[in-house]
Amino acid sequence: MSESEKSNLNHLPSRRVFVKASTAAAAVGLFGAWGAKPAETAAAEEPPVVALTKEARDQMTADQILEKWKEGNLRFREGRKIQRDFLAEQKATASGQFPAGVLLSCIDSRAPAEILFNLGMGDIFNARVAGNIENPDILGSMEFTTKLAGAKVVLVMGHSACGAVAGAIADAQLGNLTQLLAKLQPAIKATTYTGIARPTTWHSSMRWPAGISS
Ligand SMILES: [Zn+2]
Repeated sequence: MSESEKSNLNHLPSRRVFVKASTAAAAVGLFGAWGAKPAETAAAEEPPVVALTKEARDQMTADQILEKWKEGNLRFREGRKIQRDFLAEQKATASGQFPAGVLLSCIDSRAPAEILFNLGMGDIFNARVAGNIENPDILGSMEFTTKLAGAKVVLVMGHSACGAVAGAIADAQLGNLTQLLAKLQPAIKATTYTGIARPTTWHSSMRWPAGISS
């Protein structure tokens, strides 16, 4: 992100919360350090689900929104998710949407935000791109959500065992993927890896050789 883009984001009228979780264990453990409840609370009853209205969204602070996402992630991790009636939510949001925030995350099939945060239709804008990189199109989408649509929180969520990051480390070359992975190179070059040795080859199947991926 350029300095001018950062400046633009910093001067948006509403408060923003940026959370970077570069290795969030596929987001399952994203909020683990924020206070997981003991297993015996798993059977607690949850309130009925209603679609987020403009009035409800506008009354929430960024901290309250983030707290609701954390609560949803805790429900997911404890296996007591609110059961969603997607048809009812679709009807309730058909005439308008008032998401409280926007999430930028990877396309990885193991990191579906609405499931991991136990959210429903109309709760969150969801931008997904391999490696959760940002580019002018992603930033433009976020400007729509925050400047025009009222979203108050921006969350950037990475995950462990990311194929895009693995490809960037291996300097993989593959069609249009090449220029996408190039956006990760500055972070790769700025990072000193101190863990176990990784292979220098990368497979177009987006998977490490057997036994290497976590
Ligand atoms: Zn990924």
